[in-house]
Amino acid sequence: MKQNIPELFGSMVFDDRVMRSRLSADVYESLRKTIEENAKLDTKVADVVAAEMRDWAVEKGATHFTHWFQPLTGVTAEKHDSFISVSPDGGVIMEFSGKELIKGEPDASSFPSGGLRATFEARGYTAWDPTSYAFIKDHTLCIPTAFCSYSGDALDKKTPLLRSMEALNRQAKRILKLFGKEVKYVRTSVGPEQEYFLIDKEMFEKRPDLVYTGRTLFGAMPPKGQEMDDHYFGVIKPRVTAFMEDLNEELWKLGILAKTEHNEVAPAQHELAPIYSTTNVATDNNQLTMEIMQKVAKRHGMVCLLHEKPFAGVNGSGKHNNWSMATDTGSNLLSPGETPYENAQFLLFLCAVIQAVDDYQDLLRLSVATAGNDHRLGANEAPPAIISIFLGDELSAILDAIKNDAPYEGTEKVIMKLGVHSLPRFSRDNTDRNRTSPFAFTGNKFEFRSLGSSNSIACCNIMLNAAVAESLKQYADRLEAAADFEDDLHQLIKETIEKHERILFNGNGYGDEWVKEATEVRGLSNLKTTPDAMPHLLDRKNVDMLTAHKVFTETEIHSRCEIMLDNYCKTVNIEGHTMVDMVRKNYLPSIEEYLFRLARTTSMMKSVSPHVKCNYEISTMERLSELTDYILERVKDLEKSLEDLKGYEDVIEMSGFIRDDVLPKMEHLRKHVDEAEMLCSEQDWPVPSYGKLLFSVN
Ligand code: ADP
Ligand code: MG
Repeated sequence: MKQNIPELFGSMVFDDRVMRSRLSADVYESLRKTIEENAKLDTKVADVVAAEMRDWAVEKGATHFTHWFQPLTGVTAEKHDSFISVSPDGGVIMEFSGKELIKGEPDASSFPSGGLRATFEARGYTAWDPTSYAFIKDHTLCIPTAFCSYSGDALDKKTPLLRSMEALNRQAKRILKLFGKEVKYVRTSVGPEQEYFLIDKEMFEKRPDLVYTGRTLFGAMPPKGQEMDDHYFGVIKPRVTAFMEDLNEELWKLGILAKTEHNEVAPAQHELAPIYSTTNVATDNNQLTMEIMQKVAKRHGMVCLLHEKPFAGVNGSGKHNNWSMATDTGSNLLSPGETPYENAQFLLFLCAVIQAVDDYQDLLRLSVATAGNDHRLGANEAPPAIISIFLGDELSAILDAIKNDAPYEGTEKVIMKLGVHSLPRFSRDNTDRNRTSPFAFTGNKFEFRSLGSSNSIACCNIMLNAAVAESLKQYADRLEAAADFEDDLHQLIKETIEKHERILFNGNGYGDEWVKEATEVRGLSNLKTTPDAMPHLLDRKNVDMLTAHKVFTETEIHSRCEIMLDNYCKTVNIEGHTMVDMVRKNYLPSIEEYLFRLARTTSMMKSVSPHVKCNYEISTMERLSELTDYILERVKDLEKSLEDLKGYEDVIEMSGFIRDDVLPKMEHLRKHVDEAEMLCSEQDWPVPSYGKLLFSVN
């Protein structure tokens, strides 16, 4: 390590330490109030903060500043302005005002808005989110901001995320008050575990499919895949170690708490997990992590693939969203407490999550729905598309006992009476065994495991926060009016368990029996693909809930549904065209070249000796020639579908056509090309094989 880590950590962040040391006590207090209590920031204060931020940034070598935001494309956006301004003597001075800190107007008319922004008012504006610290990246001071239209509609992922956190804060505080606790705020925390692939840059550049779409659209299976399980937690290869060291250093400088890293199940697959932080900060940090992973990989001659399914037949990459709620004093509301009374509070918050996940299964499902993630969910490598909760045997037994007023067979055999009996401590071991569940309780947090590796974690946390806020609101409404708080609390918890236990499932989520039971017996939804899931965003119950908690306006919901489906359609459309291109420009001509060699060899050999049979040459030639005919037919089919796609105007219909027609045709075409790959010589194959892609980084 080149530098001392505590010194390095956060050195590029205008964080609390910097604010405290550089700002006057008054200014610091006023900014703190804005950060903690959402108080409005005085323009005079903003000017002072901006000047201090500029000085700090310039000292660190920054020349530019940018409002850094998260438009609905899912990646981050920035437009750089330099600090320089002309001084009266004709030279330049470095300037940055409070106004520039607080508000920006990027010319952002090309970002997707789903019809929210008419072109005449195309200039949305960005507004500083003081709860996420400013940082320096590539000589640029980056100010985390929200992005809105002039009519106030959110055009980004941060705005609704902040609103959802506020909604949850509002309701959770009401509940805590009933338990006699006045807290400043309740915030959700997230620790996202991020999976990714690293492959050699030279190999990557030879694959048009990876370059254009981030995943391989063709590729026969290599002789060795992940079947030996020798990669998972295996020794990290030197080139990867060098990458990880470099990556950690970059992330630490930005105050990102990169903590664990290890090899994952598939060859060339790895994982990085940070220490958890407040949800909006964790979201900003995860976006940055993904960006920096890609940048650092290039420095090491590699490419970092964040696609959910870069290689067919090999596990894809996901992201685990570890989520909990905590008060300003750091008390985790999902941690079973020490006293019976605290246990009752824990159970109520637990019920709120259970109810939220059951009532809004569809919202959670669609929050992770993308063309890429559709390849993983339900494919026995990631949770099924059916959302359910894993609680573990112990907690399940307790809930059962409460529901049935039956004795709980814990350390002592007692009938669980809330507020009277203590809960046992749930050890990690009891709660973390089942890896097939999409939503698992892991001791003091829930882990939502259905996210795709490239997803912004904003989306699922918006839905999760909003849905939990809704359960909490219903509980608060009822309990605030209760005649006997403890009795009513007990009753409420019992009723919630009865009503929502269908969402609880500790068994194997990968089995076919589960699909049958979940859908036929329990009536859970099984939204297999993005076109199946996304339109449910517009369901009345969802629109009502999201608007009631002021997380989205109805217009914003419509625009988001439109944008997400449009994104799906565009993604698959590009994939389809890339396939056509590769088949016509690379595969067919290469196979032809090989056929020519085989034919020439056969005729030459036969002219030399009438006794040679040329069985190998002739049979290979015959099958390959047959395959080229199939490939031609299939590519024409696909071309036709891609042409038909142009006739659709409605994105819901278009996405349905993609699911039912385009994707199966792509699959079919691929099958023939992959068979041809197995028959051709490696030197005649126009792109590197799976084996080379997966095993070339050492
Ligand atoms: P795993 O075994 O799944 O790798 P870990 O316990 O290592 O799980 O933690 C995974 C992630 O969960 C880490 O990012 C960690 O910081 C985060 N985490 C731990 N406690 C909490 C919590 N209370 N709230 C949110 N995230 C948490
Ligand atoms: Mg995990």
